[in-house]
Amino acid sequence: MASVAIIGTGYVGLVSGACLADFGNTVTCVDLDKNKIDLLKKGEIPIYEPGLADVVTRNTALNRLRFTDSLPEAAAKSEVIFIAVGTPPSEDGSADLSYVENAARAIGRIINSYKIIVDKSTVPIGTAGKVKRWLKEEIAKRVECGDLKEGEADFDVVSNPEFLREGAAVQDFTHPDRIVIGTDKERARTIMKDVYRSLYLNETPYIETNPESAEMIKYAANAFLAVKISFINEIANLCEKTGADIRDVAKGIGRDGRIGGKFLHPGPGYGGSCFPKDTRALVRTGRDAAFPLSIVEAAILANEEQKNRMVIKIENALGTLHGKTIAVLGLSFKPNTGDMREAPSLTIIRALTAKGVRVRAADPAAIAEAKWRLKSIAASIEFFEDEYEAMAAADALVIVTEWNQYRNLDFDRIKKLLSAPVLFDLRNIYTRKDMEEKGFSYHAVGQ
Ligand code: NAD
Repeated sequence: MASVAIIGTGYVGLVSGACLADFGNTVTCVDLDKNKIDLLKKGEIPIYEPGLADVVTRNTALNRLRFTDSLPEAAAKSEVIFIAVGTPPSEDGSADLSYVENAARAIGRIINSYKIIVDKSTVPIGTAGKVKRWLKEEIAKRVECGDLKEGEADFDVVSNPEFLREGAAVQDFTHPDRIVIGTDKERARTIMKDVYRSLYLNETPYIETNPESAEMIKYAANAFLAVKISFINEIANLCEKTGADIRDVAKGIGRDGRIGGKFLHPGPGYGGSCFPKDTRALVRTGRDAAFPLSIVEAAILANEEQKNRMVIKIENALGTLHGKTIAVLGLSFKPNTGDMREAPSLTIIRALTAKGVRVRAADPAAIAEAKWRLKSIAASIEFFEDEYEAMAAADALVIVTEWNQYRNLDFDRIKKLLSAPVLFDLRNIYTRKDMEEKGFSYHAVGQ
């Protein structure tokens, strides 16, 4: 088992750190955000992620998991250093590598024995080479001024992309479909296998490849899934025009083993911290290589249109939106997370309020983040922990995110709360027949 440092204790860093400790490694998680580290030291988990608290508590008690805001302290005592910092989108769509560069240079300024530097962040093809160069530059400066002898701070860079899904992150990290290890160095590959030894024993498939292919695997996987979502959303929209029902269509095509039934659920468009930025970054890479990725570009465009289409759907059904009050259930980009990054709810709510709607919104985990992300329209939106409170005297109910607690709502109660029984079920969790029997005007996606 290895001694591991994780730089960046966000969704990926914290889950990776806690789970790698659970596999038996000794892990130190680092973050620049002192508040986050202080919370973790007190045993509090800064993000909403089912099951994570147990893993963190267990491994902290076993002394296998520690937290610090000192990168030098964590890196000095670790043989394997994961970089799990953010790679947010730049203006031109490319991934902003400044956090990765800062982390890599900080490592280069302090290492004094052999280390493996692991790119866990999602980074464009060629980044492992850049990380190597940044480290070398910092090491060369130290050699030049006599702080370090030539060859004393040897290192290898490995690309080890992460495929966990927020909301199921612990399960995904501990039961992955595959582990991708991108390196040309046997020594690094052997140590990486040791870090993941528990999974190796469970016969998790390992994809051993070069760093460029590992980096491409991550982008290609996310782009494929985004394309699949935009594809089913377009077919759903066509169903609405032609009398077909997307639920049967999805079932009918999903039973085909070549297609598979997952990611065939139409809705208000994809969001989150990965698909939007990763598809844009891949498009940028394609354009930079003079090889535009027309399918991915079309998927991005279709996704933007899908979010707006939801607003048009609501407007068409309600007539004028000005002066209306609408209850919105579900703010996070998907259930079981408090993450609001690029959530479709943001586009939908901003568009509704721009048309003069007052929004009453509920979410089990995302209200705190939604409040600051939507502060420019704070005068037009109220937040409620309780979904039924959000519905009081609203002119319609819109389900944007399919949290479990919204799957079995009490519609007799809702009918009394709403000023008109109108439901926009943007996740197709109810059926038209049931809702019409209960006296609701029912609007779904692709039916
Ligand atoms: P995040 O924003 O939740 O966390 C990043 C953390 O890094 C922050 O806490 C930040 O303070 C810290 N940080 C930045 N620079 C630092 C430095 N120099 N030293 C120490 N800490 C530093 O991001 P995330 O969602 O965990 O994503 C991290 C990476 O993983 C991204 O590249 C993302 O694309 C990728 N990824 C994310 C997911 C996901 O579901 N969130 C899944 C797979 C891959």
